[in-house]
Amino acid sequence: MPTPLVAYFSMEIALDSAMPTYAGGLGVLAGDTVRSAAELKVPMVAVTLLHRKGYFSQKLDATGWQIEQPCEWEISRHLVEQSPRVSVAIDGRSVMLRSWKYDVQSSGGFSVPVFFLDTDLPENSESDRTLTHFLYGGDSYYRICQEVVLGIGGIRMLRALGCTGLTRYHMNEGHAALLGLELLDEVAHKAGRPNFNHDDVELVRRQCVFTTHTPVASGHDQFPLDLAMRVLGRQDVASMKEIFCCEGALNMTFLALNLSHYINGVAKRHAETAQLMFGHYKIDSITNGVHADRWTSEPFQALFDRHIPGWRADNFSLRFAHSLSLVEIWEAHTAAKQQLLERVRHDTGVIFDPHVLTLGFARRATAYKRCDLLVSDVIRLKQIAATAGPIQIIYGGKAHPNDFQGKEAIKKVIHARESLGHDVRLVYLPDYNIELAKLMTAGVDVWLNTPQPPLEASGTSGMKAALNGVPSLSVLDGWWVEGWIEGETGWAIGESCKIDQTHPDRAASDAAALYDKLERVVIPLFYRNRDRFIDVMRHCISLNASFFNSQRMVSQYVIKAYFE
Ligand SMILES: *Cc1c(COP(=O)(O)O)cnc(C)c1O
Repeated sequence: MPTPLVAYFSMEIALDSAMPTYAGGLGVLAGDTVRSAAELKVPMVAVTLLHRKGYFSQKLDATGWQIEQPCEWEISRHLVEQSPRVSVAIDGRSVMLRSWKYDVQSSGGFSVPVFFLDTDLPENSESDRTLTHFLYGGDSYYRICQEVVLGIGGIRMLRALGCTGLTRYHMNEGHAALLGLELLDEVAHKAGRPNFNHDDVELVRRQCVFTTHTPVASGHDQFPLDLAMRVLGRQDVASMKEIFCCEGALNMTFLALNLSHYINGVAKRHAETAQLMFGHYKIDSITNGVHADRWTSEPFQALFDRHIPGWRADNFSLRFAHSLSLVEIWEAHTAAKQQLLERVRHDTGVIFDPHVLTLGFARRATAYKRCDLLVSDVIRLKQIAATAGPIQIIYGGKAHPNDFQGKEAIKKVIHARESLGHDVRLVYLPDYNIELAKLMTAGVDVWLNTPQPPLEASGTSGMKAALNGVPSLSVLDGWWVEGWIEGETGWAIGESCKIDQTHPDRAASDAAALYDKLERVVIPLFYRNRDRFIDVMRHCISLNASFFNSQRMVSQYVIKAYFE
């Protein structure tokens, strides 16, 4: 491996379904990013936290309430311990860190190492040993300590591992923004000064890249200034307020914005939203993508291998799917659907009919994703199934342990299951993870997405579906604004609206639009014009999978942000 030039920092990363080091879309994106970087031979190294106790594993009780269970994993089965040790100062204590390595290898033999930071060492106090145990666990003290480990500890560890020639530091969300503080210190120390100055800030800015991932407030960590100064053990944070502070708090998003020369949102629409939020900064966009090889089901991999050789190395060539035969697409889809329905039977005992139109919905259960929108009017849904044609529904998704509204939404879906009875079969598959995501996005007939605009920054599961020829039925937000061609790549729920005209309470009108589109367009097409339906599936691959992949995304980071 050549000396890495780009360091990619992410609080979570999804590399293997046996490694619960991710919570959702952010981590999946990080995993797809490093895979594509390895294939494209981008000299990259990645840094994250170990999350020894993972995120959590989800059970649903008889009332539909989510129960979280810890998930331990066997670290040394997946990662290799590295010898260097570094320390960081946290709240007056010296905390020792080690790292574990995972090599993301491409078929071409190039690899991107991922380093997992770990504070669970006998030298540390009992509580410091737990700092890298839980992803998104604990309180805000726990979180800021974790962010010191990730940002400051991460840079020190990279140096100790011999990464001294890095020219770019990419913050995948604001969690890692404290890396900028460490870089500033390095620059000042190199110049023989005790403190950094504004010229140093300029120097650091030229090296940093920041990707913001959500307009939702809880995604932007901020800490009271007194807490931050205490934990960091320094006053210069307060004396350089214009860099570090926003409304009396250490705001990780503002820190990342202030210390980056290139800032992007994760879809065109999201960049517009972020531009409205952060007016002083120039926000570009690089639309997310998914890793084509990883998210394509085996039946479609075989189909692509037969007709589009080289599609893994060159995802753009998926445009040739335009000439695949309808019969072969349907055969591959039927096989993928079969696998999913088998999983449904295995997990729930419920037998789904392979001939019935199957809708899928799975993502983090949180208020703005409105996972209960489809079941908001059970009577209407039953009536649609009775008149337009039968449907069955597969749900999945975890709520964050403190997200009460998210848990309530899951409960509502599960209650709707009772009222729908046999008229519309519905199952909620527990413990959504990357393995289940792969089965679901490939095996349903239509992928549903109902976020509250403009809060879905991108969304990536609809892209996974597209790779498998599964069309989306989605609100026009996030990536779908770019991927949507009505009746060609899928369907819109409701109208497209200007960024500043999104109405906060559009649940009722969106539900009506969803039912209407299902009843009049999607269901009739599926049952009465199957060839045309499969033609839509074909467009999903040729028009969307060929573009919304992480190979294209990483290439854009290379051109716009890494080596511009
Ligand atoms: C892809 C994926 C997500 C993100 O889905 P969105 O559509 O972006 O909400 C979350 N969790 C898992 C396990 C995934 O594979």
